[in-house]
Amino acid sequence: GRRVVIVGAGMAGVQTAVALREQGFTGPVVLIGAEPHQPYDRPPLSKAVLLGKAEGSAFDIDFTALGIDLRLGVEVTGLRPADHEVDTETGPVPYDVLVVATGAYPLTLPGSEGVPGVHLLRTLDDAVRLGPVLERRHAVVVVGAGWIGAEFATAAREAGCDVTVVEAADRPLAGALPAEVTAPMGAWYTASGADLRLHARVRRVEEGRVVLDGPDGTTAELPADAVVVGIGARPATDWLAGSGAALDPSGALTADDRLRTSLPDVYAVGDCASFPSARYGERLLVHHWDNALQGPRTVAADILGGAPEPYDPVPYFWSEQFGRFVQYAGHHGAADTLLWRGDPADATWSVLWLRGETPVALLAVGRPRDLAQGRRLIERRTPVDPARAADPSVPLKAA
Ligand code: FAD
Repeated sequence: GRRVVIVGAGMAGVQTAVALREQGFTGPVVLIGAEPHQPYDRPPLSKAVLLGKAEGSAFDIDFTALGIDLRLGVEVTGLRPADHEVDTETGPVPYDVLVVATGAYPLTLPGSEGVPGVHLLRTLDDAVRLGPVLERRHAVVVVGAGWIGAEFATAAREAGCDVTVVEAADRPLAGALPAEVTAPMGAWYTASGADLRLHARVRRVEEGRVVLDGPDGTTAELPADAVVVGIGARPATDWLAGSGAALDPSGALTADDRLRTSLPDVYAVGDCASFPSARYGERLLVHHWDNALQGPRTVAADILGGAPEPYDPVPYFWSEQFGRFVQYAGHHGAADTLLWRGDPADATWSVLWLRGETPVALLAVGRPRDLAQGRRLIERRTPVDPARAADPSVPLKAA
């Protein structure tokens, strides 16, 4: 059979290899990953693994039994599409079909690279390095009140660290959710004992402290035994420079609705790829786990010639922060109405976004049933009665 080479042994790469076998592909599958560790799951890194409640998060997959040629600790440095080869430190690897699943890398604060005590949180190595920071209950400054910042702050508070979170915007999750929805979230930080500083711009990071821009050109200093930077991630596609592959301005590979790139026989899936969503009428770049699970099924089916349905998922993710289970499904970009189900001052509530009377997105805080039912309504484009949908005592499926 044709030889499939998958670059990147994270969730999307591993799931592509597994999906190929599940769907009956019998040809050679080579899975190449830069990290030396057995392939592992990332979400536990900012949760159980960080707190030492789990040893690791390696996937429970027998690659040998599946006939997958797993090559770890090997970085792919280039792609030559005309030759159908990728390059590695140990020489070229030929492919018939290539799947790019190189994920994303975390953005750094300019000037903070190499400063002792400054951490990122993307890899198992990062989480292992952060373990002692929590154990020693160090004073930590978290830069960025996004998903990763919130989860790290949660774990650090649970471990008894002194935690300050600095955020340049006027609220947490400013890039992800509208202001009225994030308004109640600032209180979650404070109630956990973390000090949330909004409108706080980092001027520089030094060993032992973070220097913030104060009013009128002054500065303020925060002591920090450790600094954790969580200011976003960018698709890991730099190694494709010169290959001719089409990239978005975000750096993501521009894939089509079967996750094919602009190059022949080259697919892209997971955090490194954007795809056109007919459902939402725009191109989506999703940096969440569920997309790295679903996308590979489309890739495998297309490689097998199965003419899969266009890849057009209702994006889904979850986050665990400050004792709350936060879930989101859909994409609220084109919504025209926002409905509250419940009071954001309470422990549990949801927000439903509609376009006309059709649900397009849902955020659920501690209301997993809302999420499950709302996700189905979004998938099926089932209209709701807005008055009933705004009543938290009415199950969403009956709205
Ligand atoms: P990755 O997991 O980044 O895997 C890509 C792999 O490719 C990496 O191992 C990398 O080393 C390798 N690679 C990159 N370049 C090369 C190269 N040139 N050669 C060889 N190998 C290469 N999502 C949720 O929905 N819920 C959560 O609660 C959640 N928590 C998270 C917590 C943390 C700490 C992190 C970092 C992410 C979290 N996510 C969560 C996001 C989710 O983990 C990602 O969306 C998912 O891992 C994406 O999978 P991927 O395979 O596309 O990319």
